[in-house]
Amino acid sequence: MSAAAAATRPEFCKFAAELKATAQAIAAPGKGILAADESGGTIGKRFDSIKVENTQENRRGYRELLFTTEGLGEYISGCILFEETLFDVAADGTTKLVDLLHKQGIIPGIKVDKGVQPLPGTSGETVTQGMDDLGKRCAKYYEAGARFAKWRAVLNINDSTGATPSDLAIKQNAETLARYAVICQMNGLVPIVEPEVLMDGAHDIDMAQRVTEKVIAACYKELSDHNAYLEGTLLKPNMVRSGEAAPADKKATAAQIAAATVTCLQRTVPPAVPGITFLSGGMSEEEATVVLNEMNKLATVKPWALTFSYGRALQQSTLKVWMGKKENEGAAKKELIVRAKANSLAVQGKYNGEAAGGAAAATSTFVPSYSY
Ligand code: 13P
Repeated sequence: MSAAAAATRPEFCKFAAELKATAQAIAAPGKGILAADESGGTIGKRFDSIKVENTQENRRGYRELLFTTEGLGEYISGCILFEETLFDVAADGTTKLVDLLHKQGIIPGIKVDKGVQPLPGTSGETVTQGMDDLGKRCAKYYEAGARFAKWRAVLNINDSTGATPSDLAIKQNAETLARYAVICQMNGLVPIVEPEVLMDGAHDIDMAQRVTEKVIAACYKELSDHNAYLEGTLLKPNMVRSGEAAPADKKATAAQIAAATVTCLQRTVPPAVPGITFLSGGMSEEEATVVLNEMNKLATVKPWALTFSYGRALQQSTLKVWMGKKENEGAAKKELIVRAKANSLAVQGKYNGEAAGGAAAATSTFVPSYSY
């Protein structure tokens, strides 16, 4: 390969060894990601549910609570932040919030997408925005301590008709994810490739599997065409399951979800990818843990780490116990550790329901057409 061609490929860029090491560290045995990158609007909705005002001070206070939870680094390898948090300082006025993560051995990450916009020419489908100045922003985020990034694409199953996702939406979102991935890599950030097939709808698990396979396969075709360095990437997919509104007799069990999800990944994800970090997507905290455990127990070919990158399924009980009150901080931190530990056990296939009694462990976290 000519020097000019090599210069355009992330696997030959100055960050290559670091990208691989970062991706492997995030997917380390028994560890996973805390997704705390809710945008200003989304964290506002969470705060509404516990009657906490959505101010900068409260957002900072809540994230400081999470990051100062003693022992969190034992179970959590990476934490995704919203831009505001990456540059924020703690209540003491001097300690950077990213340094609270560093202290626990947790790698800071950053949400770099700017949400979804309608994709013209489709019936209500979307494509993710944020490509303008992405390279410059990645360089700035690396400078501020981020070492990985997230970009969420959203695809919707139109019940059992199969009308969506359209080929156009699948292709546009896969292309955009691949372009984002390579821009991140050239700037030292491990890209988390997140094509989320929503659980909205009444579809059965077979439909979810067919669609998720198509979507992930399209992503790896584009990642190859764009010369992404797979060893320095992570995949963040949905689990393959029946839709939220599926009739009772069509609702998939944890064992069925685990089997369908792993089969889907075996068919689509190259072994060069070090880790698969699932989103929770509206499942309850407990269901997200139980299914992850089932997957890790399966005696089949799994060349990648199967772990978590949960937002709602790691924070729901913590938020409910915190309620914005100083006196509840200790109890809220306990809830976070219970969930983080449970998921760490699930990554090892050793979870036995120890965390099922958490404050909101069994409550669904589903939000229709969820935005982040
Ligand atoms: P949930 O686990 O709440 O689905 O969120 C994870 C995430 O980062 C979505 O982009």
